[in-house]
Amino acid sequence: MAGTESEFHIKCDRSAGSQKVLILLGPPGAGKGTQSETLVKNLKVPHISTGDILRDHIRRETALGKQVKETLDRGGLVSDDLVLNMLAERVGAADCAIGFILDGFPRTLEQAELLDAFLAKRDVGEQRSLPLVIRLKVEAETLLRRLGGRQVCPACHVIYSAELRPPMVDGLCDMDESGLITREDDKKETILRRLKLYEEQIAPIIGHYSKSGSVMDVNGERPVEEISKELLSIVRNAWRIENAEYGLS
Ligand code: AMP
Repeated sequence: MAGTESEFHIKCDRSAGSQKVLILLGPPGAGKGTQSETLVKNLKVPHISTGDILRDHIRRETALGKQVKETLDRGGLVSDDLVLNMLAERVGAADCAIGFILDGFPRTLEQAELLDAFLAKRDVGEQRSLPLVIRLKVEAETLLRRLGGRQVCPACHVIYSAELRPPMVDGLCDMDESGLITREDDKKETILRRLKLYEEQIAPIIGHYSKSGSVMDVNGERPVEEISKELLSIVRNAWRIENAEYGLS
């Protein structure tokens, strides 16, 4: 049964002192974007992808976009300060008051530490906003196959995958019929560089969050719906969302 606004009650709001923060970790192609769509619908908190925000700046040719384009094209990392400022601005919006889902952040140990400090400053009273961290685990071989066939809608940003989510009409977005494009950073040499970078950087981040016991591993090799169910169940338990009467919508 699909959930409605009134069915959801997250036992926590800003006045109660803490925010619900879900960090979705996983290599490029693990399915973070796809799973986030289901989580957003069911949990009613926004999905914040630092990669999407950066690409939007590039598309709009803003000063920030011009500054970061070359870094994104070669699969490198944008500076911690720049990403944190951008993130701080986004999570300051009203729709993030109860909580939000982070995808693509933190990418470095420094970013994880900056995020801790940032969340601590926003806490009201004694309660701490400890993020819930979920890692989607997928083998490198599967990732290469998935990313090789990945296309994105330039208008609504929905991601299609030849393997997991093909568009109904080849090359066209199901939502708005825009022509699908292959992202510069989904080209093969760039994919390999991004996977290597991910492996190097994930270990200290996992180490950091493991200390607070908040990392959950989820097998991302299974069908999309199966993964969604497990993710929702983990988040529902961790966030103590009342009313078990909701399912995938
Ligand atoms: P994504 O869509 O998450 O794979 O991000 C695409 C690109 O945006 C990355 O390859 C980086 O160049 C940049 N990027 C996204 N998030 C971050 C971050 N947290 N720190 C630094 N660079 C980032």
